[in-house]
Amino acid sequence: MHSATRTLTILGATGSIGLSTLDVVARHPGRYRVFALSAHRQVDALVALCLRHRPVFAVLGDAAAAAAARAQLAAAGCPTEALCGEAALAEVAAHPQVDTVMAAIVGAAGLTAAIAAARAGKRILLANKESLVMAGEVFLRACREGGATVLPIDSEHNAIFQCLPPGQRTGAAAPGVRRIVLTASGGPFRRASAAEMSQATPAQACAHPNWSMGRKISVDSATMMNKGLELIEASYLFGLPESRLDVLVHPQSIVHSMVEYEDGSMLAQLGNPDMRTPIAHALAHPERIDSGVAPLSLAMVGSLDFEAPDPQRFPCLRLAREALRAGGAAPCVLNAANEIAVAAFLAGEIGFPGIAGVAEAALAASGSRAAGSDLDEVLEIDREARSFARGQLARCAA
Ligand code: NAD
Ligand code: MG
Repeated sequence: MHSATRTLTILGATGSIGLSTLDVVARHPGRYRVFALSAHRQVDALVALCLRHRPVFAVLGDAAAAAAARAQLAAAGCPTEALCGEAALAEVAAHPQVDTVMAAIVGAAGLTAAIAAARAGKRILLANKESLVMAGEVFLRACREGGATVLPIDSEHNAIFQCLPPGQRTGAAAPGVRRIVLTASGGPFRRASAAEMSQATPAQACAHPNWSMGRKISVDSATMMNKGLELIEASYLFGLPESRLDVLVHPQSIVHSMVEYEDGSMLAQLGNPDMRTPIAHALAHPERIDSGVAPLSLAMVGSLDFEAPDPQRFPCLRLAREALRAGGAAPCVLNAANEIAVAAFLAGEIGFPGIAGVAEAALAASGSRAAGSDLDEVLEIDREARSFARGQLARCAA
């Protein structure tokens, strides 16, 4: 017998993480009730999910999308009510009927709703790493004050969470931990030369060898900015400074991360590279449920390889470490500039090396600016860094 039915809001339901979450949910009828689903502009996809999961609310990015969804829902006789905008996202994330919020919007756009869930004391299944990178202290304070719990979805952080002592609080270093090792697949350009990378196309950058993900995080994996953002995420979640966080390239993506203890023990979590494992872990925590992921056969995998990351070809890793050491507004600036640069790369406006170029310029320009002390200040820093980064695009177009 499992615990009582959990009522769930999924922010970013039409994305890679959102769909994987609904896949796990559908495997456990009666265990989860879907209260609200959100999408930015994919009306047809969100309506299809509403017809299947019958949430109370569907939230879209703007009024036109919500009107289109409303018409389709009415035509199909589905009682789901379509809302729109950031306030509605925050409302379904903080709604009293909801106990669990999957925060799976991509980028800074996910922050406001994640904070609303934190203030309302929800169990937050945090895929949106950008929330922690932009607003680590503000977000964790909102969690403390609201009585929220954070369960990491990012596969590395979920692995670390599983390797730490039970009951470990987020934001505080666990006793006896010497360091944390984040594994990285190395992305599609692990073996590419700098010259090849300078010519990389969006299609090549998005062709991840092991994981199927949204386009933004796929490009972040190709630059290894994803691992850089994850270092910052890990620092906030697990209360460790930059000097105690390592990155290890592991091309098979079977070992999802490791915790090293003072006595020399290293605990790792292993599994096939499929996000339904961390999602199922967080959905059911502290229980365990079937995720639909095939059992791991180490005999089939054969060998596990590890190598140090190459700081020359992947400057974004160094930039993220610098931002983490600098603290203050630097991680927020880095994240904002990266989002602008990745969007420009995907739109064919800048070359692949331009992403690191824009991020580096934005970091340098932000100096030693203090961190935002509340959500509004964080959003202001984010806005200014985006505007600066847009100004840099022309210089980096090459
Ligand atoms: P995705 O692009 O596949 O989906 C993003 C979702 O967010 C979609 O539902 C989209 O409609 C919605 N969205 C996009 N822009 C929005 C906006 N401005 N306002 C409101 N909603 C918006 O992304 P994804 O790969 O599922 O990643 C989601 C988050 O999870 C990211 O923060 C990513 O870093 C993190 N994550 C993803 C994976 C993965 O395997 N995909 C792994 C670890 C962490
Ligand atoms: Mg990850």
